Amino acid sequence: MASRVIPVDPFDLVVFGGTGDLARRKILPALFRRYCAGQMQAGTRIVAAARTEMDSAAYREMVAAALDEFDTPHAHDADQRRAFLDGLHYVTLDATGTQGWEELAALMSRDRIKAYYFSVGPALFGPLAERLHEYGMSDDEARIVVEKPFGRDLESARALNLTLARHFTESQIYRIDHYLGKETVQNLMAIRFGNMLFEPLWNSQYVDHIQITVAETVGVGGRADYYDRSGAMRDMVQNHLMQLLCLIAMEPPAKFDPSAVRDEKLKVIRALDPVVPNDIVRGQYRGVDDKPGYAEHVENAASTVESFIALKAHISNWRWAGTPFYLRTGKRLRARNSEIAVVFKEAPHSIFGAEAGRHRNILTIRLQPNEGIDLGVTIKEPGPGGMRLVDVPLDMTFTEALGPDAEDVPDAYERLIMDVIRGNQTLFMRGDEVEAAWAWTDPIIADWEASGDAPFAYDSGSAGPEEALALMHRDGRRWREIRL
Ligand code: NAP
Repeated sequence: MASRVIPVDPFDLVVFGGTGDLARRKILPALFRRYCAGQMQAGTRIVAAARTEMDSAAYREMVAAALDEFDTPHAHDADQRRAFLDGLHYVTLDATGTQGWEELAALMSRDRIKAYYFSVGPALFGPLAERLHEYGMSDDEARIVVEKPFGRDLESARALNLTLARHFTESQIYRIDHYLGKETVQNLMAIRFGNMLFEPLWNSQYVDHIQITVAETVGVGGRADYYDRSGAMRDMVQNHLMQLLCLIAMEPPAKFDPSAVRDEKLKVIRALDPVVPNDIVRGQYRGVDDKPGYAEHVENAASTVESFIALKAHISNWRWAGTPFYLRTGKRLRARNSEIAVVFKEAPHSIFGAEAGRHRNILTIRLQPNEGIDLGVTIKEPGPGGMRLVDVPLDMTFTEALGPDAEDVPDAYERLIMDVIRGNQTLFMRGDEVEAAWAWTDPIIADWEASGDAPFAYDSGSAGPEEALALMHRDGRRWREIRL
């Protein structure tokens, strides 16, 4: 099943922060892959900008090394590689000063789409927007892509929205959450709204609870400074997990278009109840054997910042009242494992008697690894010996079901950057959504900060603190295993 590639119109793309980690690891390799796929037409121009003094030739070498280091498919194709690299330009530029801006403005075409990717620290989002305007680069064809974090609370997110709104309309602002670009996350909408099967059961009458898990094996890595000022709530829950929650819980939008989808997501966030302290567990990983713990990673022995969080949320609306949503994310956990599990209620009466056991269906949407879905169904255990029941998965791993093309699907950054060029905002967060998400998380964070309580310690390589298990057990439920 070959996926169709529809070329986009020639465009100018400026990657501010073109020498940074995200640009080298994700953005440039994503652009290279789209180039190889034939999606970018001749005349498209990619310009990287940062303060480091270098010329375009040196920048091309830097990107060539990045394509190798980050193992980009097609990187071995010398012709494609040369042609892509030759099209790259570099401008030495200071986001907070005047250096480089006239040179950049002179490079920009007048009457074509111009995308400005802010792959820089959040303190520079405002200055970049100001300068783009000052140097005449914020015309109607311009759009800006803003990385996370979008603020660190409601007040700062609001201030940033206002700063950007001074020079760009909402339809020109693309707040990126790369989770929304993942194939399976979009499949979530296809599964829900493209099939008759699930939607009638998608409510508190049939769904016992929903679990959303984003488990990482990595620690804070090179982002220690940033992370120790943020923690899992700000870094993961306020954006990625909330977005997954919205997609799983929202009402069917009338159309698959940006306003309709984002309106429905916003309604979910606004219907979330405040979380009571008893329904949240924070954790921080400790070192095991020779592996350092969080405090050593961030070089702050007194840190009370969480690297793990588990919480129970309630959505107060007709569809979901009474069905809890359990969210869990953490670093240095047993396995890299992200999934959404919709756990249906047990059948109201078992005609097979008590010894047949209690069974329930679970629909699991696997984001990583092995992207796919499976539906746990109850069948008769094969063989003689009466009617004994057993649960088995109806498993669809996308790479198996869709063939080799499924392995070649664009990664999240590829898809999202092409959406920016096409002007499709469906998979980007709107300003009011981001603010509503902060309005929900702010009081939770304020409570912790007021209490000064330390998070519970958990071993690196575990499933998180024991207290997180208790959060489920006291409701008579259990977390799904974080599998290796
Ligand atoms: P980084 O490695 O520190 O890169 C920052 C970039 O900004 C560098 O290219 C730096 O280059 C440039 N820069 C700094 N000050 C500048 C100035 N005054 N004028 C112009 N350029 C300036 O950071 P990163 O990890 O790539 O992250 C970039 C953004 O993406 C951040 O907002 C981050 O939160 C977000 N993000 C990153 C990741 C990730 O995996 N890395 C994931 C999600 C979100 P010079 O020093 O040469 O100026």
